[in-house]
Amino acid sequence: MLKVVIEEERCKGCALCVDACPAHLIALGSRFNCHGAIPAIIAECDQARCTSCAMCARMCPDAAISIYRELKALQDADSRQ
Ligand code: SF4
Ligand code: SF4
Repeated sequence: MLKVVIEEERCKGCALCVDACPAHLIALGSRFNCHGAIPAIIAECDQARCTSCAMCARMCPDAAISIYRELKALQDADSRQ
């Protein structure tokens, strides 16, 4: 499950989220989006290191970042099946 989803076409490449992540998981990418900005990215292999703290999402002025958490209640229910 992805914990961080960055909508690249909403991103203006300001890098505020890059500085906000305490785990240094976000970087600017290497290609332009449709607005001519270089959007922020997170590598899939780094998703597991994300703590879902949402600092990056709170910092984003364009609400381009969504954070997801696994719910313990759902995990418990799944484990009982
Ligand atoms: S939710 Fe927290 S740990 Fe995960 S990418 Fe955003 S700032 Fe980094
Ligand atoms: S803070 Fe938002 S707009 Fe700025 S680089 Fe990150 S995702 Fe893009």
